[in-house]
Amino acid sequence: MKIIVLKFGGTSVGSIDRIKRVAKIIKSYSKKYKVIVLSSAMSGTTNKLINMSRKISKSFPDHEYDTLVSAGEQISCSLLSGQLQTIGIKSKSWMAWQIPILTEGKHKYSRIKFINKSKVMKYLRSGGIPIIAGFQGIDKNLNITTIGRGGSDSSAIMVAKFFKAERCVIYTDVEGVYSTDPNKLNSAKKIKNISYEEMLEMASLGSKVMQAHSIQDARLNRIDIEVKSSFVNKIGTLITKRKNIINNKIITGISSTDNDSKVTLLGVKDRPGIAAAIFKPLSENSINVDMVVQNISSDGKETDLTFTIKSFDLAKTKKIINKNKNIIFKRMIFDKNVSKVSIIGVGMVTTPGVTFRMFQALAKKKINIEVISTSEIKISVLIKSTKVTKAIKALHTEFDLEK
Ligand code: ADP
Ligand code: ASP
Ligand code: MG
Repeated sequence: MKIIVLKFGGTSVGSIDRIKRVAKIIKSYSKKYKVIVLSSAMSGTTNKLINMSRKISKSFPDHEYDTLVSAGEQISCSLLSGQLQTIGIKSKSWMAWQIPILTEGKHKYSRIKFINKSKVMKYLRSGGIPIIAGFQGIDKNLNITTIGRGGSDSSAIMVAKFFKAERCVIYTDVEGVYSTDPNKLNSAKKIKNISYEEMLEMASLGSKVMQAHSIQDARLNRIDIEVKSSFVNKIGTLITKRKNIINNKIITGISSTDNDSKVTLLGVKDRPGIAAAIFKPLSENSINVDMVVQNISSDGKETDLTFTIKSFDLAKTKKIINKNKNIIFKRMIFDKNVSKVSIIGVGMVTTPGVTFRMFQALAKKKINIEVISTSEIKISVLIKSTKVTKAIKALHTEFDLEK
């Protein structure tokens, strides 16, 4: 039995007309494959639910958050299944608890650990098309869980893994993975093949076309992913092993973030363990610290420490730092209007001078770099948010990504 997994994102099921279109796509695969469908909530629904929870409380209980936000997928799955049945195809919607899809970890950020195949398998054999809710699961105590924003991508990969699917196709609102967000830069170019490693970096550094966890899952399980549009029938992008790819470009893609904040502690009394004393309480409060730079004063007694966080964590961060009795510093300053721009590519491992070219291209456009961080296959810089589009454009040209 050849199984294919098809995942449809929020925009693809964002209206009744779009759901009708998606039903036709599903039908077109059903002659050749046993089809398993994963659906996101209709676009905007999850955000609406989250906003409602915030109106109740800024610290809405995590358990209730998962019950609330997972509701969006119930709506889209039933509509899609209903449409398939209307055009004469046997179909049924499945919520995670009905399968079940078991997760581990904290509410809001759980990970799928196991999927019980038996009921869905029986249904597939009977000729039906299951429409499975993405983004949700249940834990060992039968609580409803969710797996992080954009998590339906991960649901699809894990279903492909457990059902040993022959193919996994992610349908979205763009034609594939581009050199940079095509909605931000017109000259962005569709990438034919991209390695798991590069896609993982791009996703983690802000390219939301794929959820980062889903790429980790795909890489671990060696699952090839096809990303394509549900609006036009064109070849998309294949995410696969590095070995399968011939690419002569140094840089594959450019990513950016849009809601970072920079925090600087001036005149911190220096001693061994000071960085740990600052960051431990932040990590205990689930605040993700990203870029860090530390400068030592000439007498070695004081240090200035700069780090970046997500802007929605800024108020909490200020409070925690001000309450921290284990550190002494003169002043804390912030900048809410910073963004991280990153260039990603396995080609930089073997090509010298990439860092210099990046910095020079930004300097030519008078873009000031505030913080830098690098890994083997990426270079990130923190700049003013207002300069992001200009920076992406300059780097896109510098590294020949239009071609
Ligand atoms: P879905 O609802 O289908 O999961 P998302 O909104 O999560 O879709 O992801 C698709 C969006 O990702 C696109 O509309 C695009 O604006 C954005 N995006 C960011 N970076 C890229 C990139 N490098 N290639 C393609 N799309 C990108
Ligand atoms: N509906 C969820 C979200 O908006 C999951 C997804 O779309 O993948 O984050
Ligand atoms: Mg998505």
